[in-house]
Amino acid sequence: MKKAMQFRDLQKQYKVLQPEIHSAMREVMDSSNYILGQQVDELEKLLADYVGRKYCISCANGTDALTLALMAMDIGPGDAVFTSDFTYFASAGCASVLGATPIFVDIDQSTFNLDPNALEENINDVLQEGKLKPKVIIPVDLFGLPCDYDAINSIANKYDLKILEDAAQAFGAEYKNKKTCSFGNISATSFFPAKPLGCYGDGGAIFTDNKSIDSRLRSLRAQGKSQKDKYDNREIGMNSRLDTLQAAILIPKFHALKDYELEAVNNIANAYSNVLNDKVTTPIVPNDYYSSWAQYTILLQNEVQRNQVKEALAKEDIPSMIYYPRGLHQQEAYNNMHLTDKDYPNTVDVCKRCLSLPMHPYLEDKDIEKIVKVVNGNL
Ligand SMILES: *Cc1c(COP(=O)(O)O)cnc(C)c1O
Repeated sequence: MKKAMQFRDLQKQYKVLQPEIHSAMREVMDSSNYILGQQVDELEKLLADYVGRKYCISCANGTDALTLALMAMDIGPGDAVFTSDFTYFASAGCASVLGATPIFVDIDQSTFNLDPNALEENINDVLQEGKLKPKVIIPVDLFGLPCDYDAINSIANKYDLKILEDAAQAFGAEYKNKKTCSFGNISATSFFPAKPLGCYGDGGAIFTDNKSIDSRLRSLRAQGKSQKDKYDNREIGMNSRLDTLQAAILIPKFHALKDYELEAVNNIANAYSNVLNDKVTTPIVPNDYYSSWAQYTILLQNEVQRNQVKEALAKEDIPSMIYYPRGLHQQEAYNNMHLTDKDYPNTVDVCKRCLSLPMHPYLEDKDIEKIVKVVNGNL
């Protein structure tokens, strides 16, 4: 039987990288050094070098990476943390679990990323209300596209805020010749299997140039231990480490990403955009930006058309996803904040019209042709 088309084909990638991945895993088993083995150090050095940061601290997943970073910034009750309204829940959940208050910022529809003008308005609103202290901005590099860091940096400087970059979806992307995971005070990423750089389970990493934050994060990921003694606990931390096996799997996958997968996804994005009908809004990559294409997300003309296209694709066994069906301000978990749709017009509109098409480095021309034919034929 012919295998159905995959939204992100992890099996195809595995087949290509199988010999390297198997020998990397075997090495870990031969040494039986499962926690913080040598491959974890090796991966941290490789990734820090690649993104242009001094330090990389790996951990158990992307959500922990964000939470640990906020812990290292001493964020807690009474603090306001600004993030995009249109993102995966973890971008805000990391603030809430520490007792801080996430403030959702409406997006720029052309990039799907938070709108710097809306961000400044939100900061002023919080200051005017006087209940919370603005502390951190968490810009999310959504779908693989970096945020406008010049604009965000200048706002952070003006209001004396820290920046925690959520690059969970954008490892390998660039803004003005700088790699994601290098922006702001601290950056976080995820190695969830479907992310641009994914492992075979959960994984994540934190990046910084600050030596004392590096040591604090290494302590926080291991129950707040002191540098020398695992049983000397200096503060409340977590158990959040990257398994040696996952690090070993990530090393060959990192080389594949760098050597040809990033180029492949960029070619595929261009191929899609060149042939999709003009009635479809295709994703843009502004000058001086480079995307790592975690998602290829189009906008249809209205909700009815979006749902029709999705159904037509499903009929042909083509998977597609709605990233995201609602903004964070609409999540039941944040009902108690009493937020209204009218403050988030761009997110609300995009949630009705967005559709993410299959995207991964091993997608073939004939698959793209088939997908585009269904989309163009159902407008
Ligand atoms: C996936 C993701 C996370 C969380 O990563 P996990 O490894 O799944 O915990 C955080 N932020 C964004 C934007 C994500 O897409």
